[in-house]
Amino acid sequence: MKTLKSMRLHIAILGKTNTGKSSLLNRITNQDVSIVSKIAGTTTDVVEKSMELLPIGPVTFLDTAGINDMTELSEQRIDKTLKVLNRTDVAVIVTNYDGFDDYETGLIKILGDLKIPYTVVVNKTDEEMIDENDFNYINSFTDNILVTSALKDDEIVFKFKEMLVKLLPNDYINAPKIAGDLVGKGSTVILVIPIDKEAPKGRIILPQVQTIRDLLDSDCLCYVVKETELKQALDNLKTLPSLVVTDSQAFQKVSDIVPENIPLTSFSILFARIKGDLGEFVKGARAIENLQDGDKVLILESCTHHAIEDDIGRVKIPNLLMKKTGKNLVIDNYAGHDFPDISDYKLIIHCGACMTNRREVLSRILIANDKKVPITNYGIVISYCLGILSRAVKIFNL
Ligand code: SF4
Repeated sequence: MKTLKSMRLHIAILGKTNTGKSSLLNRITNQDVSIVSKIAGTTTDVVEKSMELLPIGPVTFLDTAGINDMTELSEQRIDKTLKVLNRTDVAVIVTNYDGFDDYETGLIKILGDLKIPYTVVVNKTDEEMIDENDFNYINSFTDNILVTSALKDDEIVFKFKEMLVKLLPNDYINAPKIAGDLVGKGSTVILVIPIDKEAPKGRIILPQVQTIRDLLDSDCLCYVVKETELKQALDNLKTLPSLVVTDSQAFQKVSDIVPENIPLTSFSILFARIKGDLGEFVKGARAIENLQDGDKVLILESCTHHAIEDDIGRVKIPNLLMKKTGKNLVIDNYAGHDFPDISDYKLIIHCGACMTNRREVLSRILIANDKKVPITNYGIVISYCLGILSRAVKIFNL
């Protein structure tokens, strides 16, 4: 239960009311966790349930009971569905003998657009078996069909997990390395962590902890220093480090200290790679040079953290952008799981996404691409504005 939400497999349970999705979820989780409403559309919140689902591992179910309980997917309903699907790794569409119509095929179209693997659970066979024609129709979309009665089928949990295992995204099965794959076993890596007023009291932040763990898992020698001791650390080492990773905010200072022949990147860039699409973010940063007076830039954050005086998204990045472009830009901030209307924006700058899963960032990239709005992230923008982006992404051959 201590596994971070951002590292859990997110499974959305979708379907019309009375298809038995709540009873399915209750059987799987062995708990009464779902919202059950007799009146369609009265419940609009997503119920989240995190659990260890062996042998898959830590998962979070997103029970969408009440969100999609209309037979027609109106535009507003599609928007609401999308908000859940944006962070969905695997989707489960629950249906029954009542039929499979535009509602479910609409969902399948969205899941296909978002590249989310899905299964169809044909439920309530204890009440009535699905018609053969209906089954064949579902089968024309997918082979991943589970025909069952969540209430009566003793094997339901086993069958459901078996189905889920087939759908697991590759990057969930083989979790990508943060930095270990960039350097060899036994390599030395220096991590530069400034302890400024943004640093939380008495601890270091999650991406830095995760990077240390990743390097230890990769049998690397990992040195952690502040930027003020970096020169001394380099002088003390008998061999050159294979990589230096710094907090983005100290990039310029660190870049001045670290000789050009030592690869240098930032934590944000490492996480842009595993939490999003580094190539897309680097491409997005090129839009900065085309920004004009009055252009709108959206700073998109995945959580509503408490903004401090010198906040990166509200102060540092806007100041860097204005200085770099010399333009009078309109900069908006937006925080949370929602995705606002982005049509008017010339650039989206995403945060490091430490509190969310990769799927949510990838979904946002897909939506941005669809609207032809360039998207990049904090670490890339900072490196770009400081003129050191090419050095920071050289180790990734970008
Ligand atoms: S990087 Fe994004 S998700 Fe992480 S704390 Fe900042 S705003 Fe929240």
